[in-house]
Amino acid sequence: MSQEQREQALAELDRVIRDIVSVNAERNDDESLFPRPNLDALARAGWNGVLVAKEYGGLGLDHSAFAEAAYRIGQADASTGLVYVMHVGAAQTVNLYGTEDQKQRWLKPNGAHLLGTYSTSERASGGHWWYNFSQASRDGDDYIVNAEKSFTTSAGQADYYITQTRTPGARDQTDISFFIIDGKSPGISAGPWNALGVRGNHSGPIRYDGVKVSRRDRLGEENQGKEIIYNGVSPVYLVGLGAVWEGVARGALDTAVAYVKNWVHQDKQKRLADYQAIRQELAEVKVLVESLKPWRKELAIGLDELWRSGRPQAELLIALTEFKVHASEVANKSAAAALTVTGGYGYKKGALERYFRDARAGIGMGPSNIIARDWIGKTAVGLPLELFYEGGE
Ligand SMILES: Cc1cc2nc3c(=O)[nH]c(=O)nc-3n(C[C@H](O)[C@H](O)[C@H](O)COP(=O)(O)OP(=O)(O)OC[C@H]3O[C@@H](n4cnc5c(N)ncnc54)[C@H](O)[C@@H]3O)c2cc1C
Repeated sequence: MSQEQREQALAELDRVIRDIVSVNAERNDDESLFPRPNLDALARAGWNGVLVAKEYGGLGLDHSAFAEAAYRIGQADASTGLVYVMHVGAAQTVNLYGTEDQKQRWLKPNGAHLLGTYSTSERASGGHWWYNFSQASRDGDDYIVNAEKSFTTSAGQADYYITQTRTPGARDQTDISFFIIDGKSPGISAGPWNALGVRGNHSGPIRYDGVKVSRRDRLGEENQGKEIIYNGVSPVYLVGLGAVWEGVARGALDTAVAYVKNWVHQDKQKRLADYQAIRQELAEVKVLVESLKPWRKELAIGLDELWRSGRPQAELLIALTEFKVHASEVANKSAAAALTVTGGYGYKKGALERYFRDARAGIGMGPSNIIARDWIGKTAVGLPLELFYEGGE
């Protein structure tokens, strides 16, 4: 795609965000509505297939474009941002590990709005989501999946789930495999999503009760799950997730700045922006928000280079994890400062309190910032990451 076409695609993305995503954000939050119309509009503009090659109907762009899109969507609505990131990540996992037949059936209809997501976390292993205790059984060459997933973004809404579980013969919880599960399969039931924030993204529990999955839809080989997590799932998910929280951080800051520039205390004839204390509060957050953009861009370019050269994207796993931690914490600081400088009005129902509630999800989403710091610290002092240490963390 030429630079000019790329700019046009970004302009179309901005139009969708302005005319549809932003307009729906408040109502989706209020009524806990899944943002399907937003995802349909993004699909029509081609952005659901941002990383998918043109021969499969995608835009054939790169991680830089994907992360930019996640950032811009996150500014308007974190719920839509999360659904978008899980979808692009799911599609990219098929892109990287799928067979030609799987790409034809699950990627090509992107223009027709097929929505994917990741379904990995289980109650039994909690935040150590890379371990699974659920196990599929065999049905001739095919499989029967029985699993209860504690959280799955777009649960009950997705057209397909990239589902992680074990297959017969797995030695323990570290031997995992991936499947593409059709969202219309009998036996899938999703629970409600009733949460503090990102109320539109429907990240509730989901059950797979005796769901038949054809051998055709096993993603990669049995027990190849570790490699898929390191190189398929994690890199694209982490850069996208961090970008959404960067968007929330920027959105909260911009909204607060607009408010303090306009609100005037009649008694002193001063705007809120005329108080030094208010400007200090904003400046502290602005420095943090500005730190995210160049880092995101550098990481996305790094992922693009690894992708093009065929090297494992897991080389950037820790740097991407650091970005996720920083972006989610800056989002929380920015949203909190935005409430501080806007006083009682910021606290009332509206965009700022939504940013504040939404941002909180970033701290706990896998890898939670506590777990992420453990990975980062171990790597910093030269200890093995041991993500798949058998019988341990
Ligand atoms: C909005 C949202 C969307 C999500 N979307 C998806 C999705 O699409 N797909 C999916 O599979 N999952 C998803 N998840 C799940 C998420 O990635 C985590 O797996 C899940 O939130 C873990 O929650 P838990 O209560 O089971 O954690 P627990 O493991 O019970 O953690 C509780 C606390 O203990 C800490 N902790 C955990 N392990 C350790 C340790 N080893 N050392 C020190 N402290 C530790 C945690 O940081 C946390 O503070 C989503 C979650 C949220 C909130």
